[in-house]
Amino acid sequence: MFSKIRMSGSASVYFHIPFCSRKCPYCHFYVLPDEERFKTQLLSALALEWKTQSPLLASKELISVYFGGGTPFLFGPAAIQTIIDWIKPPSSCEITLEANPENVTLELMQAYREAGINRVSIGVQSLDDTSLDTLKRTHNAEAALRAIEQTKKAGIDNISIDLMYDLPSQTFASWESTLSRLEELPITHLSLYNLTFEPHTVFFKHRKKLVPTVPSPTLSLRMLQTAVERLEALGLKRYEISAFAKPGFASKHNSGYWTARPFLGFGPSAFSYWEGKRFQNAANLSAYAKALAEGRSPVDFSEALAYPDNIHELLAVRLRLLEGVDLTQFPQLPANTHTILRTLAAQGWLELTPSHAKLSQEGLLFYDSVAAAII
Ligand code: SF4
Repeated sequence: MFSKIRMSGSASVYFHIPFCSRKCPYCHFYVLPDEERFKTQLLSALALEWKTQSPLLASKELISVYFGGGTPFLFGPAAIQTIIDWIKPPSSCEITLEANPENVTLELMQAYREAGINRVSIGVQSLDDTSLDTLKRTHNAEAALRAIEQTKKAGIDNISIDLMYDLPSQTFASWESTLSRLEELPITHLSLYNLTFEPHTVFFKHRKKLVPTVPSPTLSLRMLQTAVERLEALGLKRYEISAFAKPGFASKHNSGYWTARPFLGFGPSAFSYWEGKRFQNAANLSAYAKALAEGRSPVDFSEALAYPDNIHELLAVRLRLLEGVDLTQFPQLPANTHTILRTLAAQGWLELTPSHAKLSQEGLLFYDSVAAAII
């Protein structure tokens, strides 16, 4: 599916729209309250950033545009339409908008489709109300089902949902009840995450109390394996460690992250990857907007990995794809890295030939260790 190296002439763009009606206790993203004054400030700043950065895209084939956050659905169809008008994406472009169930209405979704959105990613997280309570989400399972239905009804056929497991007090029965409701849903894609306790979150602060209540490693593995079986039975094929898709619906945007397609990020805290360099805008709307208004770059972090670290990182990230990696595309791989790959294969974590490497079934469970050994 992704075995050919991406044309150097292709690119993606990401817009970070940070508004949320409430901050979830496990969330470590840069988010702001859903207030008009911030939206006006953001749109003006994005216009300046677009003017400065978009000439870089002039000779590129634009593969995808992704509005992430935060909850970009809260920005409103008019603001999203304005940005898409700046971009003038080709008709083949995948244009994704993230949404939360409680905000979705048929009218709004239709307006987003008319603005050019052709893919929606909905933060469902669970279809069990107890788990949604644990996560302090502001929707329930019924609202999630309704949001998916309204999105489909609005004429958007490419619908992705996010689900989470390894939640405090989550039981296998609760997870099963979520999985059992998936077959009624007209979804084309699903991203599966296990809860992690990230620094600077409320859950992290209470981790001493919460960690003992999350599923044991054995139960967690059972939850993951059951999910993989159920999803594949529904035709949602696992194509990346945490991503499942119907044929033809693998996320073009996320596939770019795994295959080193260059992308430009716009908005506070947005990351970019361009000409081998990774950089990030200030994670603060005022600082980001002020820099742009004064004609300065809003970037406050950048790094370019030197050889061979850059190759190692590309190889490790690409191994996330279940189809594996064509090693002939990595002719510069140092000899000792080949030795590491052989060691990983001997451990049973990689299926390895002289020209190809892919994670084994067991390696899929130990990806972090595989990546750490390579990097
Ligand atoms: S809705 Fe998403 S981005 Fe917003 S606070 Fe919750 S997890 Fe974070």
